[in-house]
Amino acid sequence: MSLSRWVGAHVSASGGIANAPINAKKIGADAFALFTKNQRRWQAAPLCPQQVIDFKQNCQEANILSEAILPHDSYLINLGHPDQEQLEKSRLAFFDEMERCEQMGLSLLNFHPGSHLRKIEIDECLSRISQSINMALDKTQHVTAVIENTAGQGSNLGHSFEQLAQIIDGVEDKSRVGVCIDTCHMFAAGYDISTYQACEESFALFDRIVGDRYLKAMHLNDSKTPLNSRVDRHESLGLGHIGKEGFEFIMNHPATENIPMVLETINSDIWVDEINWLRSLTKKHIAVD
Ligand SMILES: [Zn+2]
Ligand SMILES: [Zn+2]
Repeated sequence: MSLSRWVGAHVSASGGIANAPINAKKIGADAFALFTKNQRRWQAAPLCPQQVIDFKQNCQEANILSEAILPHDSYLINLGHPDQEQLEKSRLAFFDEMERCEQMGLSLLNFHPGSHLRKIEIDECLSRISQSINMALDKTQHVTAVIENTAGQGSNLGHSFEQLAQIIDGVEDKSRVGVCIDTCHMFAAGYDISTYQACEESFALFDRIVGDRYLKAMHLNDSKTPLNSRVDRHESLGLGHIGKEGFEFIMNHPATENIPMVLETINSDIWVDEINWLRSLTKKHIAVD
């Protein structure tokens, strides 16, 4: 497998999952994210075999590898919920999401770790999240649980590298857990990536505390809010407080090779331009065979 950068966006799957790769192809993506069900509802009809066949065929036609596809789970799920009944509801919904990914032949599921809702201690919440991941991995065979870092808004956990490391520490099968770094969330959580030097420091910190081997995906977003604001507001690339230099660093960082890198920026009309711009940032190396 040749090393390259897979760039795309979180595309619409409205009308069915098979439409997502079609939408990805339209913007020239070689990676994409999607919801495999309505992200604001608990229940979803099971995937029918024909939908899955169409999905796979459309991915092939768009030349997008399954490893470059990053499904996102429902916003309702809280794997660290303080209330036992609600926690179980979240876990069941999460198992279903993992199973859908397996049915679709996908290897990753991206999710927000969870919130303590000011009812339990942070450590207790983090341990519930680890247990939820353990249970989900037990019920499936191939899908890796990909924890997204958060901006730390409200009582959302997973905003610090230490918290991400603590969740991973509680997961038994380390080969099937990873992290998706959302650049907007990272910046809003206090990790500066607005200059090359700041990026070097912040990414070195990630490697030291979490480990680059756990980096399984990226969400590429600029931030409307300043460093350490703890407020999650995405902006188009280069138009927010992160600016252009940070993305140039990321597009040349060895840890971002062969992982899905997905835009969740606010103006889908310019995704094509953003994807082309990102690709132009990667410095071409002459291959020596
Ligand atoms: Zn997310
Ligand atoms: Zn994100």
